[in-house]
Amino acid sequence: MTQAVADLFVIGGGINGCGIARDAAGRGLSVTLAEQGDLAQGTSSASTKLFHGGLRYLEYFEFHLVREALEERETLLCAMPHISWPMRFVLPYSPQMRFENDTPTSRLLSAVMPWMKGRRPAWLIRLGLFLYDHLGGRRILPGTRRLDLSRDPAGQPLRPGFRRAWEYSDCWVQDSRLVVLNARDAEARGARILTQTRVVSARRVGDLWEIATEGPQGAARHQARALVNAAGPWIGAVIHDVVHLETREGVRLVRGSHIVVPKLYDHDRCYFFQGTDGRIIFAIPYEQDFTLIGTTDKDHHGTPEEARCTEEERDYLCAFASRYFTRPVRPGDVVWTYSGVRPLYDDGASSATAATRDYVLRVDAAGAPVLNIFGGKITTYRRLAEHALEKLAPFFPQAGAAWTARVPLPGGDFPVDGVAALTGRIRAAHPYLSAAHAARLVRTYGTEALALLGAARSFEDLGPDFGATLTGAEVNWLVAHEFARSAADILWRRTKLGLHLDPAQVAALDAYLLTSGAGAQRLGPGGGPRGPEETPRPPDRL
Ligand SMILES: Cc1cc2nc3c(=O)[nH]c(=O)nc-3n(C[C@H](O)[C@H](O)[C@H](O)COP(=O)(O)OP(=O)(O)OC[C@H]3O[C@@H](n4cnc5c(N)ncnc54)[C@H](O)[C@@H]3O)c2cc1C
Repeated sequence: MTQAVADLFVIGGGINGCGIARDAAGRGLSVTLAEQGDLAQGTSSASTKLFHGGLRYLEYFEFHLVREALEERETLLCAMPHISWPMRFVLPYSPQMRFENDTPTSRLLSAVMPWMKGRRPAWLIRLGLFLYDHLGGRRILPGTRRLDLSRDPAGQPLRPGFRRAWEYSDCWVQDSRLVVLNARDAEARGARILTQTRVVSARRVGDLWEIATEGPQGAARHQARALVNAAGPWIGAVIHDVVHLETREGVRLVRGSHIVVPKLYDHDRCYFFQGTDGRIIFAIPYEQDFTLIGTTDKDHHGTPEEARCTEEERDYLCAFASRYFTRPVRPGDVVWTYSGVRPLYDDGASSATAATRDYVLRVDAAGAPVLNIFGGKITTYRRLAEHALEKLAPFFPQAGAAWTARVPLPGGDFPVDGVAALTGRIRAAHPYLSAAHAARLVRTYGTEALALLGAARSFEDLGPDFGATLTGAEVNWLVAHEFARSAADILWRRTKLGLHLDPAQVAALDAYLLTSGAGAQRLGPGGGPRGPEETPRPPDRL
């Protein structure tokens, strides 16, 4: 079946594809987006989940990248105060820590201070943090302060050798929720969002693209005036095997893995640890009961689907964190791992760590235009979408102006400091909710939590209890409004409740999705069997 001609056809339902679809739909363009699996099933659910400037990119003099990301932090925070929030990062100082030795800063220092041998004087780190505080402007987030680790609680879980630290600001974001909320907003503005739908070919026919997809309803054909390749780490496969473009542009796949362990400390701050090998990792409070540690940075040679945290990476992260924490982090403590692949523009950098994190947008206009998107960060997705629309502007003179800055995503229409007030409102309307349940709903759905709870007057009214405060009402909401189809969509991307449920509870959720027909609701009449490509990628477990 061939659909009406769309202005844009977007390949990929990660943050870049969904961000572009939302922006374009809001400018009045007709948009279709196809995602081969679940929204955010690729890199966009496997990030460190920070809206950050990237302190370490200052070492590479990537001031433009850092400034753009720093400027975005507060813009994004205001548009989604439910799924993102400020975090403080503690950077312990030790003169023994080594920094990457092929950064421009390293080369400069080895010329003027050769005796430092890869180390950084404290004043230089303070200077970096000064730049970080001021490069991108800051109205909401507090600036850097110095800590005495012998007195501050942040020093308590650390080895006694660490006496000094700095504490600076960045933000946390629930990455996969960010993606689905962009997709929902795009849909509300007229975009067609097709999940479980793989693009198998795209070719130019006259002034149009003719696109073939395979999805739950079988094969379909689409026409569009322009194509956007937002396939993330699959970008090369789409360029060569789907669109058949001749291009010299390269993509470098760099794998980053994280480990999750039971909570290592009680306060709510994160740590930024500098390694003896020049790399850095974060340790971040995660999902109330856990600590998230990552990431590694390795060239990835398989397909993106094959990215897994190897035992070597797991052991590396455990050893790295154990150089800082008094209580060693052991491989046996690891309860979950995940791994993602960065699709970096290949700039010929010598190491995975040094490859540019900036994004590169390339239009091929030898006929109907196609825009290929290399790289990017969660933090700069909104700016990347604006730049993508600028690149496409010559082909769509009717498109509206940029509009997304500070426009709330679904559920984010409340003040940035309004979480406590909203939680109070929800508990007043639904007094049967525990404090933890209400807090989780606010941090997941924002003001939409009220619609999700509807007219329920007791916990029992919310339907089956799957454990960890997940109820039938929430599952139904996720299926009806958030494109969820399977237990994995719900437990690992719309929420992270997979960390809290046992196998029997997961099986009960699976059974509910099958028997209630909830998983088929968005398929429309006829439903259709799930193809092998629709099987969600299981979360990595060691
Ligand atoms: C370990 C790690 C940590 C990171 N941490 C951060 C961080 O803390 N902060 C930050 O700002 N950034 C971070 N990033 C970067 C950020 O996660 C990525 O830049 C971003 O998620 C890329 O999004 P994307 O939409 O380009 O790709 P993806 O999210 O991978 O989306 C591409 C989608 O295209 C789909 N697709 C592919 N081929 C087809 C096809 N033929 N048909 C239909 N669909 C198709 C895929 O299924 C996939 O869902 C991190 C990255 C990694 C790897």
